[in-house]
Amino acid sequence: MNDESLKLAERRRTRQITLAHRSNPVSVGGDAPVSVQSMTTTKTADVEGTLQQIYALAGAGADIVRCTCNDADAAAGLAHIVPRSPVPIVADVHNNYRMALAALDAGVHCLRLNPGNIRRPEHIKLIATEARDRNVPIRIGVNGGSLDERLYQRYGGKVTPEAMVESAQIEMAYFEEVGFDQIKISVKASNIPLMIEAYRQLSEVTDHPLHLGVTEAGPPPAGLVKATAGIAALLAEGIGDTIRYSLTADPVEEARAGRQLLEAMGLRERKGLDLIACPSCGRAEVDVIKVASDAQEALDDLKLPIQVAVMGCVVNGPGEARDADLGIAAGRRRGHLFVKGKVVKVVPEAEMVSALVEWAELIRDDGVEAALAKADAGAAAEAEADRAALLDDKGLDANASEQRVELIRRHLAES
Ligand code: SF4
Repeated sequence: MNDESLKLAERRRTRQITLAHRSNPVSVGGDAPVSVQSMTTTKTADVEGTLQQIYALAGAGADIVRCTCNDADAAAGLAHIVPRSPVPIVADVHNNYRMALAALDAGVHCLRLNPGNIRRPEHIKLIATEARDRNVPIRIGVNGGSLDERLYQRYGGKVTPEAMVESAQIEMAYFEEVGFDQIKISVKASNIPLMIEAYRQLSEVTDHPLHLGVTEAGPPPAGLVKATAGIAALLAEGIGDTIRYSLTADPVEEARAGRQLLEAMGLRERKGLDLIACPSCGRAEVDVIKVASDAQEALDDLKLPIQVAVMGCVVNGPGEARDADLGIAAGRRRGHLFVKGKVVKVVPEAEMVSALVEWAELIRDDGVEAALAKADAGAAAEAEADRAALLDDKGLDANASEQRVELIRRHLAES
């Protein structure tokens, strides 16, 4: 057998959409690799807690993260989260169309709408128009469990693949009326044969990229088996452009499972060193992209299975990336090296990359605990002093997120 004969079915060609994150845009469909998504379980209004989970998900393999946008406080949280997230953010909108508009005001990279929940055509078209004008894609997320009642009745009081596909098509038609085509679609169900057939039928009638998932798969290990059965069957047929495991578990497990499945199926390359970098927002103290690429090059040779974070500022970097084994954050021309979120050494800016290499080797040879035990006594206090000075310099709102929050509040008050 040659390598060609070992390939899965050719991937069905879909159109491509892009979630336009500032430093890490992610394309879905076309020739883009199949991407992994997950969803935060924190309250979106809890900015620091949510960002910390987003970093953990990115580190575990998530290319895209979804956060709920269920009220004005969540939308305000998104205004602060989006400029600091290392991966594109999708806002999950439930019944209230105004939350979709608020999420757009917050600057999110994508929306997810459930056609079973937002039903009034004028609301759907208003959201699509606003998304079109801002070049923000939307996922039409049909869910077998919340199918539009009229469709449910028309298909004999049953959730059928045909009813799910029709629900997506009705929504698409509204979007087309306003000239919006930045769409991806999901037709999830918890019943595996139903979900597989719905996606098969959908891929016959549209070339928009498809987001695969099994709803309410439950806790692992049964949930993992169930989700894998549905997602892997479709991927093996060449259907699917992005995937999400919906597990009753820490979402880090979802991201990890998604990544592992794609690696096992030969759809993504295996990760050795896992380097994550912040998007470099208004607080950045250094050229993050340059330091990250220098670090990648220097660390690649070591072939270490560890996670390393390169962060633009010491104000938020060590906290945001506290799940990384090792990281460095910039501030006042110095690099603040941290292990599992604890600052262990402060070095001149020019030595940031060499310090990362030195501590990566230390972790490889002796482990994380030994590295933590070698922390410089004064490092944490120095980092705290730099952090306080930077907060003094730039204030609490370096990204001007409060302007977006004011916009969100004004628009919600007007509507
Ligand atoms: S510069 Fe600081 S606050 Fe901004 S994204 Fe990077 S680590 Fe986060």
